[in-house]
Amino acid sequence: MKSYQVVEFGKPLELREYENPIPKDEEVLIKISACGVCHSDIHLTDGFFDLGKGKRITLADRGTELPFTPGHEITGEVVSKGDNAAINIGDKGIVFPWIGCQSCSACDKEQETLCENPQYLGARLNGGYSDHIIIPNSKYLVSYGGLDPVQAAPYACSGLTAYSALKKIPNSNSNEFILVIGAGGVGINGILLASSVHKAKIIAIDIDENKIKEAKKAGAIAAFSPDQLKEIKEFCNGKIVGAIDFVGTQNTSTFAVNIIKKGGTVVVVGLYGGSLSLSLPLIPMRSLNLKGSYVGELSELKELIDIIKNGSVKLINVKTQKLSTVNEAMNDLRNGKVNGRIILQP
Ligand SMILES: [Zn+2]
Ligand SMILES: [Zn+2]
Repeated sequence: MKSYQVVEFGKPLELREYENPIPKDEEVLIKISACGVCHSDIHLTDGFFDLGKGKRITLADRGTELPFTPGHEITGEVVSKGDNAAINIGDKGIVFPWIGCQSCSACDKEQETLCENPQYLGARLNGGYSDHIIIPNSKYLVSYGGLDPVQAAPYACSGLTAYSALKKIPNSNSNEFILVIGAGGVGINGILLASSVHKAKIIAIDIDENKIKEAKKAGAIAAFSPDQLKEIKEFCNGKIVGAIDFVGTQNTSTFAVNIIKKGGTVVVVGLYGGSLSLSLPLIPMRSLNLKGSYVGELSELKELIDIIKNGSVKLINVKTQKLSTVNEAMNDLRNGKVNGRIILQP
């Protein structure tokens, strides 16, 4: 098994070779077809998330041991299985990577992203920048039917993150608006998927002119730069019921909190970093809802794959590269040079 691994935080990934692991009990060995390159892989290889005001959360503190293999947007095929794995050799699917401990109350309720002892693939357990991966249970392989495995891969994180965030905004009407902040990979997925969850019209903001254009192409009814506050307010006439911050900076979240209507919902998704200062009386006076959304649940991935399979939404742009170019791919993403999703193939 050839894997590209974090050997030291902050350094490029290194190629390491191992014997193929042998699955036990309910485990399954997957031969990987494709793995998407996600922005959070950059944080994972850097080894920290910025919490603002000089504070950081480090992966070492969270129990990540080195070396480990990042990559969590994985599709592949079952090549061997433990004695108790309820799946067939040759079955194909998308891997649900947001796995919990499987023994706490959150995991019992199938809310694995709320588990306090997560076992995420590509963060705690070895991930998809490899030609093979072990998954702890066959239930985490979701069939994608006739979809192309390259096209399906980014729905494990980018697509699922956008879908779960959209679902955290209460039902909306067609005369209302939802604001998408940040039209990068996940934000564009949010725009593409919005009609599968909401009746509201989607508007977007981004600081980059090209991304403003991409947002409109993806289906936003209008897209603005953040300094067009007056134009946005006129366009939406006080009817922004929800805002999803796919960036996650002080500026973007403050913008979202200030622009939504009374009783509206701000969902923070992006992990760019920083801190938010809120005027406390305005939270009750405006009945403000502030939610965090981190990736999504297995049940949501199944719903999402059904939506993709029935062809009612436009799919995200993907571009394939060899797995061996993983470090270049991550640098391109870090430098903002990627439109759509880079998908690595072993
Ligand atoms: Zn991701
Ligand atoms: Zn758990």
